[in-house]
Amino acid sequence: MHNSVFIGEVMVELPMTQSDAVTLNVAGDTFNSAIYFKRVLEDSQVSYLTAIGTDSFSQRITRFAENEGVDTSLMLAHRHRLPGLYAVETDSRGERRFHYWRESSAAKDLMNLVINHKVSLRNVDLIYFSGITMAVLSATQRQMFLDFLIENKRQGTTIAFDPNYRPILWEGIEQAADWTRQAYALSDIVFPGVEDHAALYGHSSSQQIVAYLSPMSPKEIVLKDGANPVRVITQYEDTLVPVTQVSHVVDTTSAGDGFTAGYLACRAKQMSVKEAVEFAAQLAGTIIRHPGAIIPRHVMPCSLAT
Ligand code: ADP
Repeated sequence: MHNSVFIGEVMVELPMTQSDAVTLNVAGDTFNSAIYFKRVLEDSQVSYLTAIGTDSFSQRITRFAENEGVDTSLMLAHRHRLPGLYAVETDSRGERRFHYWRESSAAKDLMNLVINHKVSLRNVDLIYFSGITMAVLSATQRQMFLDFLIENKRQGTTIAFDPNYRPILWEGIEQAADWTRQAYALSDIVFPGVEDHAALYGHSSSQQIVAYLSPMSPKEIVLKDGANPVRVITQYEDTLVPVTQVSHVVDTTSAGDGFTAGYLACRAKQMSVKEAVEFAAQLAGTIIRHPGAIIPRHVMPCSLAT
């Protein structure tokens, strides 16, 4: 059975509504990807590695993951911290703004918990993480995290990475650019986004992005550019796969998270690069036609399970 571990921060989401009634959701980029991956590849083991608290919000997060069939044994409980919280505000023009309360969230202390709990991954086929996974950690814990990934890679685990650049989470752009480069250098499958690279490295074309990444020899470069074609470069092919443009976009949150999950699930099933992009783009296209980071299961494209 395919065994994957997604690593990062999962938060409580407070969608801003007109009423004063509070509805709580659960979301976070790598968490969204874990949920989508599990929904797509139902007959696989998917674990989420993070730190949460012992409070009732954390229990809600755990229940949510359990209901989705995601293994929660690596959701480590921090005795003194809470999960992060964010609110989404939509202004009169439909533009969304995010407000975060995550400076002292449990996930910021993830690597200390990994050490304390002596977490050691065994027989893992795939690890997925993002720039946000790194950004929330202190520089010391970030280095511990990359060492942890390198150790797992040595044991044969495929490492997949999406930079998901969020300037507000980093000390500065130089740090973000440098840590992102280090993450790329140790990863096998990478998901650069055109917008992220323009902001981080000033790249203005896919050629520049590919020229930057190729010397680091990732096995697969999957270059996303919104509604524009996805370019995938492997040792054997350089493929451009068109994306069907969605005209009535409702909410772009987690389009990229769903895309990476769909792509990785298809590749885990030995599907071709072209098939993987087509499936991933179909999933992402469905996600952006619905509100929220994690769309209802019944509107998802069919799973890949046999
Ligand atoms: P990220 O959110 O990681 O920056 P993108 O914005 O490039 O990534 O979107 C990820 C994927 O979502 C794209 O490769 C595409 O498949 C899909 N997507 C995004 N925007 C659109 C759109 N307007 N129409 C159709 N598909 C889209």
